[in-house]
Formats: sequence, structure tokens, C-alpha cells
Amino acid sequence: MYTYHKITPEILEKLKAIVGAKGVSADPDRLVAYERDEGVEREFFHLPDAVVYPATTAEVAAILQLANEELIPVIPRGAGTGLEFGAVANHYGGIILSTEKMNRILEVNAEKMYMIVEPGVRTEDVQKAAGEVGLLYAGDPCSGDSCFIGGNAGTNAGGNRAVKYGTTRDQIYSVEVVTPTGKITTLGSRLKKVSTGYPLEKIVIGSEGTLGIITKLVLKLVPLPKCSVNVLAVFPTVDEAMSIVNALPKAGIEPTCLEFMDDDSVRVTEDFIGEKQNTGTGERNYMIIQVDSNDEDALDDLCVDLDELCRAHGAVDVFVADAERIWKVRKNFSDASTTECPIMVMEDFVVPADELASLLKALEKISADQHVPVRSVAHAGDGNLHLDILKKGIADADWPAKVDAFEKAAYEAVYGLGGRISGEHGIGEKRKDLMVTYTDPVELELMKAVKKAFDPNNILNPGKIFELDD
Ligand SMILES: Cc1cc2nc3c(=O)[nH]c(=O)nc-3n(C[C@H](O)[C@H](O)[C@H](O)COP(=O)(O)OP(=O)(O)OC[C@H]3O[C@@H](n4cnc5c(N)ncnc54)[C@H](O)[C@@H]3O)c2cc1C
Repeated sequence: MYTYHKITPEILEKLKAIVGAKGVSADPDRLVAYERDEGVEREFFHLPDAVVYPATTAEVAAILQLANEELIPVIPRGAGTGLEFGAVANHYGGIILSTEKMNRILEVNAEKMYMIVEPGVRTEDVQKAAGEVGLLYAGDPCSGDSCFIGGNAGTNAGGNRAVKYGTTRDQIYSVEVVTPTGKITTLGSRLKKVSTGYPLEKIVIGSEGTLGIITKLVLKLVPLPKCSVNVLAVFPTVDEAMSIVNALPKAGIEPTCLEFMDDDSVRVTEDFIGEKQNTGTGERNYMIIQVDSNDEDALDDLCVDLDELCRAHGAVDVFVADAERIWKVRKNFSDASTTECPIMVMEDFVVPADELASLLKALEKISADQHVPVRSVAHAGDGNLHLDILKKGIADADWPAKVDAFEKAAYEAVYGLGGRISGEHGIGEKRKDLMVTYTDPVELELMKAVKKAFDPNNILNPGKIFELDD
């Protein structure tokens, strides 16, 4: 059993000595901003004991040395757009370490195609800085206008372009990390290949702030395609829609984005943003297919190929869409769904991409059998389904049991198809019980051993992903 110390006035003074008086606060009015992230489940809201705003790596290291000596939990935080309460205090309490002051772009090297940034830079600003020198930073979570690049590394964020470029882990050469005992190291390197020991940067990225605090990132930049087009294909059935996931690469077409929305999700989001897409009536399953090229003519040919392929796979409508309009619908789904029903549970299932149709059909059946409404959108090319389970029409007293029953059936379907709990949002505080239930015991034991090796006193984001002493 891990026990921690409370933050005393003496500790607050020591923190002030590191970051200055304005860099620390234990004022409850200030702390309220950190009691949650973008997750909506109130049972996970939790006030921290203090918040600290370091501006340099040395300050982060000094804070962690102090916390490790004094046995005080530290919770790293980016923009707080996470959905699993990973950047929120839990029953252990502790200090939120906000990276918002570490927000500088340190170098954009167009010649060598890399960028060095601090963790508190907004993802959209990383993308803009790359675009200004004619390059692309390929990471593209839907929350890019608000999340931080350090948070993206914390969760190994995916997003819309992962089908072509991979997740955040694939966009990073190396990270500067402060370990839980306060040591500073750089993991990874700007190398195309390396076989020199364990790739520890791959473990720290995606560890949800449990193994180290990322204080600097060297990001990969890639050539920016000269032109791109967004095609909207409408299919009567989920099977037909999903059949293009493998058909596209087999036909030599590499989509940059391949996003799925079901009928209800489009309708709800259109109502929310007050715009209609004019895509006809009847049961509809929508695929947004973005393709890029450096050649306008080649792109036109690609559109013809796409049209033929989608129609051969059952599409009733295929057209070149207004990029801004369709992406507005896709990116507003989350807000639309929360507005439709503020009490809900958000899932982030991932299955092999060619099993997504089976999962959607299984979930549709569970939803109908259990009378629980759901909304679905998916990063279809990655097999990653965001499913919102809505309380709509369900009595307060019935809701917890309904959610439990739905989740049990849903996770059986997910794991039966070779899937996992989370494709990109992480486990955080919210899903750690499920993590224990569904993870192979040997795998879980190895993960705990890794955590203990990095963090012998378990002070960095304790109790996230799993409890060490469960
Ligand atoms: C509308 C909306 C759309 C979204 N779309 C996507 C999407 O398309 N793809 C996707 O993957 N996610 C998506 N998300 C979820 C969220 O935006 C991502 O998980 C994002 O990566 C979180 O970044 P953040 O800066 O807000 O991190 P936070 O929420 O502050 O933290 C997330 C985790 O990272 C850790 N962390 C933060 N900074 C550091 C650091 N410097 N070092 C180590 N650990 C750190 C925290 O401890 C926490 O565990 C979406 C969220 C919303 C609200």
C-alpha cells in the first residue's frame, strides 16, 4: 500500500523557491480549473492539493526531486483535453504539474525536416509552424486547436491522419524526459534506424504521465502534399462502408484520412452546428476519404478511381465534398453528442480495422437488446471506434446497471475480435479496473515492473492505468 504525505505550508514554500511565488497555487478557486479534464463522468472529478507551473526542465526536475523525497504525488498536465482523467488528481491527491508555461517552439529546421518544441505548445501551432516552411507535422487529433503536443505524447494521440502517418509515437524522434526521481535524460534519437538497447522513448510516449515528464520533443516533419481532396461516400450498410478499408490499399490507394460516421451521429451533429449536408435519406453510413497528391491531374484520376471503387462496394452516393463543411461535422461530433445527452459514457474501442463492421453490428445488437442509445464515429482506417453510450430516456436508478451490462457485453465483443480497451485516449483513472480485468496477468505484471523501475516510490501519476499494489 503506497502512502503519501500532505502538502504542508513548508512544502509550498519549497515549491515557491523552485518556481517563484506566482508559479504555485493552493487556492481552491484556482484549483477548480484542474478538477477535471474533458471527460464527463462526475465521479472522477477531483480537486488537487496544489498546482505548479514550471517554466524550465530544471524546474521540473527540482519539483520531482522534492516530490520524490517528500512522497507527494505529481500529476503531469497538458491542456486537459484528455477524456480519461489521466491529468486529474485521484484519491491520492497531490500536485498538478501544468506544462502551460513551457510553450516555446525552439527550432524549426526545414532543411533537416525536424522541429524542437516544449510540451506546452498547442498541436495546431506545431502544425502551423511546419506549414509555414512548406512541411507537414502529421499528428492531427480532432482536439488539435486546444490540446498540447506534450499531452499528445502522453496519450500517444491518434487522430485523422494516423491511417497514413501513424500515431504521435511515429511523429517523434526523441524526447527529453524528467524521471520521477528528478533525473533528466533524452530518450530516442534522430535516426532512421537503431538497434542499440531498448527503445525507452516508445514506452514513455503513451505512458500517460506515469513514467516521466516530457519536457522537450524533437518532432519529425514530412513533405507537405501539394493538393488534397475529400470525398464523401455514402453506403446503405456498415458492411459495405467498411469493405473499402482493405479495398483501398489493395487497389493502390493510400488514404490520408478514412473516417466513419453513422446516420445518427451525422444527424445529431448537423442539428448541433445548424448545417445540413444534403446527402439524401434512408439508412446511411458515411465515409470521409481524404487523398493527397503532388499532382492535380493525378488527384483527378484518383477521384475517378475512388468513385468507381466505392460504387463497386455498394456506395449509393460519392462526391467531392467541401472539406471545411464535412470536417466541421466530424470534428463537432463530440460536442454535439455531449449536448444531446450530457450524461454518457465515452468509449474508445479498437479492433483490427477489418473487424470494425463486425464490432459495429455487435454493438448495434447490444444497444437494441438492452434499450441503450449509442452514437458512433470511427477512425475507420485504424479500427478505432468512438462510441458514446447515452443515458437518454434511461431512469437515474437504472443507469449504473445499464452501463455495466452494456460495457460487459461490449468488451466481450471487442476482445472477441482481438481488440483492446483504448485505441488513442488511454486508460487514465477511468478505465483502470477494465485494464486489470482484460489484460493478460503476465503482461500486466511486466507493465508494473516497468513502472517500479522508473518510479520506485510511485509518486508520478499514481493509480493511473493500474494500481501498483492491486
Ligand atoms: C473534442 C475532442 C476531440 C478529441 N480528438 C482526439 C483525437 O482525434 N485523437 C486522440 O488521440 N485524442 C483525441 N482527444 C483526446 C485528447 O485531446 C488527447 O488525448 C490529447 O492528446 C490530450 O492532450 P492534452 O494536452 O489535453 O493532455 P492532458 O489531457 O492534459 O493529459 C493527457 C495525459 O497525458 C499526460 N501528460 C500531459 N502532458 C505530459 C507531459 N509533458 N509529459 C508526460 N505526460 C504528460 C497526462 O498526465 C495525462 O495522463 C479529443 C478530445 C476532445 C475533447
